[in-house]
Amino acid sequence: MSSANLTCVELVELVTEYLDGALTPDERDRFERHLAACSGCTAYVEQFRETIRLVGVLREQDVSPEARVALLAEFADWKRSSASRTWASRRSSTG
Ligand SMILES: [Zn+2]
Repeated sequence: MSSANLTCVELVELVTEYLDGALTPDERDRFERHLAACSGCTAYVEQFRETIRLVGVLREQDVSPEARVALLAEFADWKRSSASRTWASRRSSTG
């Protein structure tokens, strides 16, 4: 079983599946472990949950591509400044 930690970007990619209950138990476990250690992603998921509560149903199209790209860029920026090594090593291990 893979023990690789989820990155913030991966978490953002999986959030709709997570809230939709579509993740595998392993993915879900990694997702929740990342949440436990990352307040930024916890806030993001809470915000997402609140949106779903208001809208009533989860639809992928509710997340505009612009918002998604902006968010990913924000995470990438933050990560690059604090942990660029993690990104470099991860890319070589997955590619
Ligand atoms: Zn995170």
